[in-house]
Amino acid sequence: MEEEQTSRDEDALASAQRLRLSRVLRGSLSFACTAAIVGACWAWNFLDGIRAVHYVIAVVAINGLALATIASGANLRLKDPSLTTPLVLSCLPPSLYVMFFVTEPMVRAAFLLMGTVAILFGALALDRRQVMRISAVFLLSYLALLAALAKAPERVDLRGESLVALAYCIVLLQVASLGTFIAGLRLKLRQKNQSLEEAMTELTELATRDPLTRLPNRRTAMAQLERELSRVERRRQDGDGLCLGLLDVDHFKRINDRYGHQTGDAVLRRIGESLQQALRQGDFIARFGGEEFLIIMPETSLEGGLSAADRMRNAVARLPAESLGLPEVPTVSIGIAAHRPEERIEDTLATPDRALYRAKHLGRNRVEAWSGDDDARDAAHA
Ligand code: GH3
Ligand code: MG
Ligand code: MG
Repeated sequence: MEEEQTSRDEDALASAQRLRLSRVLRGSLSFACTAAIVGACWAWNFLDGIRAVHYVIAVVAINGLALATIASGANLRLKDPSLTTPLVLSCLPPSLYVMFFVTEPMVRAAFLLMGTVAILFGALALDRRQVMRISAVFLLSYLALLAALAKAPERVDLRGESLVALAYCIVLLQVASLGTFIAGLRLKLRQKNQSLEEAMTELTELATRDPLTRLPNRRTAMAQLERELSRVERRRQDGDGLCLGLLDVDHFKRINDRYGHQTGDAVLRRIGESLQQALRQGDFIARFGGEEFLIIMPETSLEGGLSAADRMRNAVARLPAESLGLPEVPTVSIGIAAHRPEERIEDTLATPDRALYRAKHLGRNRVEAWSGDDDARDAAHA
């Protein structure tokens, strides 16, 4: 069970890391598009070749570092293992660097456009507050760039830049608000998914377990029996088959009548627990109905089933009466039978049931087995 959980956790982790890696690769593509624009700036003489080379080196270093961090698993030690905020922010310094050195003021607008794409990327993974904060950093960086450029008035057309800055401010606000809307939707979707998952777990629990004893219920028992029967069919030739037991609490009605239904419930719960503890690993027990339990014992001979049944009868007998709120512990009767090859699921429970009936008939508090001799006697009577 624990191993299964661990392997499920590992699968979930691997798939989360794959998703992060693919997101970083998509981000790299966006960086590559901006690099193409930087290349165009150089080709059309808006930028010195050496500045373009600096840009490319910075971008390769940023993306290489992000990919290596995720590929090595080092990101898992960080607060946000998706690296979204550092990645979105990391596009700022190289872009600001190029924007500072381009010779034509209007060329800067191209980089502003590319920056908004980065914010939209962030909006797909961050929450409302983080998206607003990143947008503010972008805007302030741009204003700081303008302030730096204003020191050399010949490099900047302040009227035109002011207009672009105003428009950029409006665009950023809208992108950020769209981003926060998307982030809100994602959060709602995640919450809905989570409550759906919880409801599924609860429904599965309700559909497969008995609410009183927490043991598997009759429906689960029949599904398990079906699985075991098909397994037995597959391995019919070798050794022990399948042994089935039906256990019934003796005179249980009296407990309800004398001590109340609630005490009866508590007794069933305690008996269920002690039976489960008495079983070997691989055996299966379910509450089959009322005060009756079905026991499925794979790869068990009739003798093995008999000794398991004795163990269960003794486990109940050893329960301390005071813990049950009764003057004496109730006894149990058990019927055991081996499943016969090719017997149908409906028929295979008839033999332990007949053995249980005999146990009751012979005075209760005992184990009876249905054997081949009983079959022969039945056939002679028929
Ligand atoms: P026998 O030894 O022949 O099995 O006698 P019995 O009294 O145990 O058998 P009977 O079938 O006459 O009564 C079973 C009782 O179990 C009747 C029913 O009210 C009670 N019962 C069934 N389900 C529950 C339950 O969930 N809680 C409680 N407290 N009682 C239950
Ligand atoms: Mg009964
Ligand atoms: Mg009973």
